[in-house]
Amino acid sequence: MAVNKQAYEQIITDLGSHHVTLVAVSKTKSVEEIKQLYDLGQRDFGENYVQELVAKRSTLPADIRWHFIGHLQTNKVKQITPFVALVQSVDSLKLLQEIDKQAKKAGMEVDCLLQVHIAQEETKFGFSENELEQVITTLDELPLKHAHVKGLMGMASLTDDMNKVRSEFRYLKSLFDTFSSHRTEFSTLSMGMSSDYSVAIEEGSTMVRIGSLIFGART
Ligand SMILES: *Cc1c(COP(=O)(O)O)cnc(C)c1O
Repeated sequence: MAVNKQAYEQIITDLGSHHVTLVAVSKTKSVEEIKQLYDLGQRDFGENYVQELVAKRSTLPADIRWHFIGHLQTNKVKQITPFVALVQSVDSLKLLQEIDKQAKKAGMEVDCLLQVHIAQEETKFGFSENELEQVITTLDELPLKHAHVKGLMGMASLTDDMNKVRSEFRYLKSLFDTFSSHRTEFSTLSMGMSSDYSVAIEEGSTMVRIGSLIFGART
């Protein structure tokens, strides 16, 4: 499979005027495909599985910024803390504390986003609004020195109903605004994927995570 260069360039054009960062989601895609996109200038890539990420990274250019976007188990944290650019899928305080601990051991500072559950589907991970408030209050009391929460990430429902998707993004943006108003380090709102990134940008996204539109459908 080849990268869809035309789609990629269209996305870059769409995002550029809004100052939105593109994370190219390369899960299940080969290192050759990633390298093709790298050669077009892409540097931010997102992966969902620790093993896959570690294996791919070892053969790809060192200046790639790797984003972890899948469900992360605490016992795998130490495999990615030495190099990961942004862990977007923090869904428990325990996980955040483990990232802090392992980052300290690796002599690193690791940026993180808190994943918020905004979709209808129960299967998706993330904090509820109440849990988010609790975690953020806890973080104010116990500042972590090596794991830094930079914002929020969310996935909208899998539906063709763009009004529903839009209202979920709008809700996430309102949470982001509430928390960023008194936390200057909150700067990133990661929302929007292949099917809904235009809506996400209209609703205030600062980072989109796009896979299939660039790399083709996953098998
Ligand atoms: C797979 C994935 C994406 C990309 O999805 P596409 O529909 O292929 O663009 C974005 N975010 C997360 C968290 C994912 O798991």
